[in-house]
Amino acid sequence: MPRGNEEGPGRTADAEVGDLRRLERELRGALARDGFLLHYQPLVKLSDASRFGMEALIRWPNRRRGMIAPSLFIPVAEANGAITPIGGWVLRTACRDAALWPDGGVVSVNVSARQFAGGVLIGQVARALLDSGLPPERLQIEITETMLLDVDTDVLFMLAALFDRGVSIALDDFATGYASLAMLRRLPLNMLKLDRSLIRGLPHNAEDAAILRAVLDICRVLRISVLAEGIERAEQRDFLREHGCDYGQGYLFSRPLPAAAWTVAAAETV
Ligand code: C2E
Ligand code: MG
Ligand code: MG
Repeated sequence: MPRGNEEGPGRTADAEVGDLRRLERELRGALARDGFLLHYQPLVKLSDASRFGMEALIRWPNRRRGMIAPSLFIPVAEANGAITPIGGWVLRTACRDAALWPDGGVVSVNVSARQFAGGVLIGQVARALLDSGLPPERLQIEITETMLLDVDTDVLFMLAALFDRGVSIALDDFATGYASLAMLRRLPLNMLKLDRSLIRGLPHNAEDAAILRAVLDICRVLRISVLAEGIERAEQRDFLREHGCDYGQGYLFSRPLPAAAWTVAAAETV
């Protein structure tokens, strides 16, 4: 078998294009065959670790490659447009699952910039809510900073339409790049999710702690809830709680688990 760089740049580029094409074909196949899964990770109140909702995270079990991480296939799906139907499937499935949760709570769904094109997202949300019977107040959508780089009025209009309907809006991965604090005022926003990269160094990294304090101050004034992602250690949780961060998510509380785990766990505690 020819392998990687040993074969020279031409062959490597061809091989990469071949791999990409194959991945694209398999992605479309997975979509047609209902080949994706959703896992759910709790969103908790840091005061008592109680769960107020869960984030839906897509998983792609692949016969040849095992479980493919979303960080590998979402960019491919975004580039070739498959993310639009995949995003619709995620919304429908997440709302349907959440409607069955015995304890209720919010289901938080990641959406991609491509879903905003032509207003598709508005229709996808409407259909997911209608099909599942889930009240809009139980759905949150997570947008990312990069999506807002070229905030056009259409995107703002769509976010406002969802917000007015009762759907919550969260800004995901905050602190990884582009969003300015000033932008927070322009958006209809319920929640800011602080990226794991900012939480990792707490409580010892003084710069991260200073950024955290500033963001918490501004969000308090703007009445935006703040959730810290990627909490793995009790000392991070304690520091965040002491500084007035009310919500969190991370392996300390639970890893993402298949939908059935939550239904069974909930049934067992009844
Ligand atoms: P995200 O939305 O920021 O999701 C959080 C990611 O952090 C998840 O990775 C989760 O498994 C991981 N995580 C949670 N707690 C911890 C922790 O304590 N430590 C560490 N090291 N990691 C933690 P995952 O599931 O691999 O998803 C990666 C990204 O893929 C997501 O980041 C999101 O941007 C994207 N994604 C996932 N599902 C979807 C989807 O349905 N649609 C779209 N458009 N993007 C999705
Ligand atoms: Mg997210
Ligand atoms: Mg995130």
